[in-house]
Amino acid sequence: MGRSFRYVIIGGGVAAGYAALEFTKKGVSHGELCIISDEPVAPYERPALSKGFLLPEAPARLPGFHTCVGANEERLTPNWYKEHGIELILGTRVESIDVRRKTLLTTTGETISYKFLIIATGSRAVKLEEIGIKGSDAENVCYLHDLADATNLVNIMQKCSGGNAIVVGGGYIGMECAASLVANKINVSIVFPGPHCMERLFTPKIASYYEDFYKSKGVNFVKGTSLSSFEFNSEGMVTGANLRDGRQLPADMIVVGIGARPNTDLFTGQLTFENRGIKVNNHLQSSNPSVYAVGDVASFPVEFSGDTRRVEHVDAARRTARHAVSAIMDPNNTLEFDYLPFFYSRVFSLSWRFYGDNVGEVVHFGDFSGSKFGAYWKNNGSLVGCFLEGGSDDDYVKIAKAVRDKAMVVDLGELLRVDQKPPLSPPIRGGGLKKPVYLWCATSAILVAVFAYWYGSMWV
Ligand SMILES: Cc1cc2nc3c(=O)[nH]c(=O)nc-3n(C[C@H](O)[C@H](O)[C@H](O)COP(=O)(O)OP(=O)(O)OC[C@H]3O[C@@H](n4cnc5c(N)ncnc54)[C@H](O)[C@@H]3O)c2cc1C
Repeated sequence: MGRSFRYVIIGGGVAAGYAALEFTKKGVSHGELCIISDEPVAPYERPALSKGFLLPEAPARLPGFHTCVGANEERLTPNWYKEHGIELILGTRVESIDVRRKTLLTTTGETISYKFLIIATGSRAVKLEEIGIKGSDAENVCYLHDLADATNLVNIMQKCSGGNAIVVGGGYIGMECAASLVANKINVSIVFPGPHCMERLFTPKIASYYEDFYKSKGVNFVKGTSLSSFEFNSEGMVTGANLRDGRQLPADMIVVGIGARPNTDLFTGQLTFENRGIKVNNHLQSSNPSVYAVGDVASFPVEFSGDTRRVEHVDAARRTARHAVSAIMDPNNTLEFDYLPFFYSRVFSLSWRFYGDNVGEVVHFGDFSGSKFGAYWKNNGSLVGCFLEGGSDDDYVKIAKAVRDKAMVVDLGELLRVDQKPPLSPPIRGGGLKKPVYLWCATSAILVAVFAYWYGSMWV
């Protein structure tokens, strides 16, 4: 006979931590909740691994970044779970699960049954072998997904100071790792097949700003080609990379950031899937009513864009986790999940946020030779997305609100005019009340990107 818990969370990452906090806020009793994680530590803020954790000086270390410090909440140390009567089963993998019988089996041979299950298994890094390249086993080839990877990366960086690193991939992980490698005095070449970095989110103009910034720090961009194989020494260490365009690059270490895959194998054939994730309704409930999915694995309806999405970002992990717990413990007071896509990154002295969708017509604003600029996207006259580098907290609150409201962009010509009062325009009705929005710059060197609403008050 195994143990039984009313609530079980599989996975001990970001979503699990935020779910745990929400369970306590909703009055979970001691002994009712269990978290099973194959990582050896209590849930932590994963984004710290590619930022503070990799710094050469005063690096972030646990317990400093346990959840939920990322949302300015309480920090949930292992002791916190003990005090709240939450069972943390760490270093233990869930091997199989039977959602019909509501039981699961762990690698330690324990059977655990539940009344409600929350799947928070996140994703894993895509390995080079999955794109046909051998070499992941080499000691100086690094990935970055969990604490063990980050610790390994720090050790390898320390051995390679003054040497050459090749970063494979120009997305989030590649760009953030490249910045950290530079901070650790390592020469960086970043290789990716696309025309510019962060291809799915950045416009060419935005990308060019960041690439120039990285170049000013010595980073070498190798674009429009990809890795084809490695060169190894007699000890099996990678010494160089062969690229598909015939070029060769020397390497003392490699960092691979070529994407992630959701950890959903346990549920194949048992739950409904969409977008490679577990399909859930707007209460994060899967096709089995006792099973909820949150974080990277959840494919949830997004009213803002009218589709179903899986979002591999920390904000979605936090929000879906809180919402699922609320839907389970307090269903009568839980509204439908309403999510505005939100992404952010911090590298070097730069920091940007993006809200909404990058679809439709894009308009850049601000001074791209300065420190504050951005772009917004409009679709059928409405604001649907906004990117801002170097904004203040207040700016970000304003743009998030304007995007959420799908504010109406009245006159693009007016948007970037200086010292100009926004022209009045009547609100539009139909499909909800839309508010006209204006963006304009102050004449001073600093761009002040503010959205002003004529409707209601002048300033958001
Ligand atoms: C290095 C890095 C930096 C990032 N930086 C940013 C950022 O700056 N901004 C941003 O928005 N997002 C960022 N992300 C993405 C963000 O961290 C994820 O979207 C978020 O962690 C997802 O939360 P989650 O709880 O769904 O999954 P995770 O946090 O990945 O947690 C999943 C947990 O489940 C465990 N698990 C999986 N399978 C099993 C099993 N069978 N049994 C037991 N345990 C299991 C895993 O080991 C892990 O502990 C970053 C991700 C990484 C890897």
